[in-house]
Amino acid sequence: MDPSDTVAVVAGKFTARAIRFMGAGLGSNLPGKLARRFAPTVLTKLSEQAKSGVIAVTGTNGKSTTSGLLSSILRAAGLELVHNKQGANLVAGITASLVESASWSGKLSADYCLFETDEAALPLIAKEVKLSQVVVTNLFRDQLDRFGELDTTAKLISKGILENKTLAILNADDPNVSQLVPDCPRMFFGVESIKGREEKPAATTDGMGPNSMELSYCAQCGSETAYTLVFYGQLGHWSCTKCDFKRPVPRIKASDVEVGPTGSTFVLTIDDRQGDAVVPLPGMFNVYNALAAAASAASLGVTIETIRQGLKNYQTLFGRSERISIAGKSVLIQLIKNPAGASQAISAVAADPSARILVAINDNLADGRDISWLWDADFEQLAGHAKKLVVSGQRAEDMAVRMKYAGVDQENIHAESKLDKALDQALDLVQSGETLWILPTYTCLLEMQKILKARGVSLAGT
Ligand SMILES: [Zn+2]
Repeated sequence: MDPSDTVAVVAGKFTARAIRFMGAGLGSNLPGKLARRFAPTVLTKLSEQAKSGVIAVTGTNGKSTTSGLLSSILRAAGLELVHNKQGANLVAGITASLVESASWSGKLSADYCLFETDEAALPLIAKEVKLSQVVVTNLFRDQLDRFGELDTTAKLISKGILENKTLAILNADDPNVSQLVPDCPRMFFGVESIKGREEKPAATTDGMGPNSMELSYCAQCGSETAYTLVFYGQLGHWSCTKCDFKRPVPRIKASDVEVGPTGSTFVLTIDDRQGDAVVPLPGMFNVYNALAAAASAASLGVTIETIRQGLKNYQTLFGRSERISIAGKSVLIQLIKNPAGASQAISAVAADPSARILVAINDNLADGRDISWLWDADFEQLAGHAKKLVVSGQRAEDMAVRMKYAGVDQENIHAESKLDKALDQALDLVQSGETLWILPTYTCLLEMQKILKARGVSLAGT
């Protein structure tokens, strides 16, 4: 380390302490910004101290949970990690997490650095850090006001991977992902089968599935893709309708998947080895997150037994399928931020017969100012929901309208814009044996964290 790097680390650590002392919020980027001001190479200097390499996890949905699952697996393997687990996933936030983990003299002790990385930040990170692998979870249309077209995001991710022709660990079932970087070393993960569901003759995505189903296209000839099996969104067993392009054969697979309201089971296959796996998280989307983490770990040489153990041991992250108890009532919190993720959360709610529902929508900058995505999320899965539900947040009224159009009886929709009141009203509705599912946007989640803290309930990572 040059003297300037050491000064940078000291300045960053000092700032981080000052911020904590003043009680400022989660995941501040300031220590990272300041350290980079003192020494622009600080990220490079710190990350290259990781003994075995640097892993980046990116994609539209599931970055945090996939990183968390991977962290649980690597720890089960006895490895030491530096992980930006507070979700500060831009360059400054990632730098801050390294600065915090380093000693005051700038020494970092870790086998791996694990970076949950924003899609747009990946090419910037790849310029400064020699990545050993990039895991891409999925590519859905996200907050349009931030990134523009899906194509732009795909190009940014490709650019980050191509920088050093890094190993890409890709979702075989997502045509937007599995067609990325054909000239780089690639490893695929995917879902083989769901218990009780059979492959059907290939049909195009047109008019299929819920309204969150997204069109996708062949990267080779531009024709639409067709499916024999759709799991959700554009994820499934796909092939091009015109040329011979199709879903690559995954090396890491989940078969006989059974999705339950609190967790899923499946047969995990890694090359020629197999074993039963359990993921203590609801929804099909978390099966994919588990597979992405398993694929990453397998590529590092972690055994299938340790991977299964790590998945089973997983402790939930702040606001990601987090289960807590409030006043003796069971509560599950799942952050929602875009149509694909929200549709998956809603399908997990719809599959739970004991579910009570509180949806909280804000439209602050961190939530995305444009809430038209609510109309693309598949709330129709709640059509005919026969129990009273609560909608809240700055856009409670809009959410009430959305629920009505989704087919929920108006009498069963209760709007209360104040989140603390809404929480009490929702909790009052919860009967014995029922679970309250809270689906908040990001700033509603932060507000919920404050409300719960004041009541002596703490969420993960806080
Ligand atoms: Zn084609």
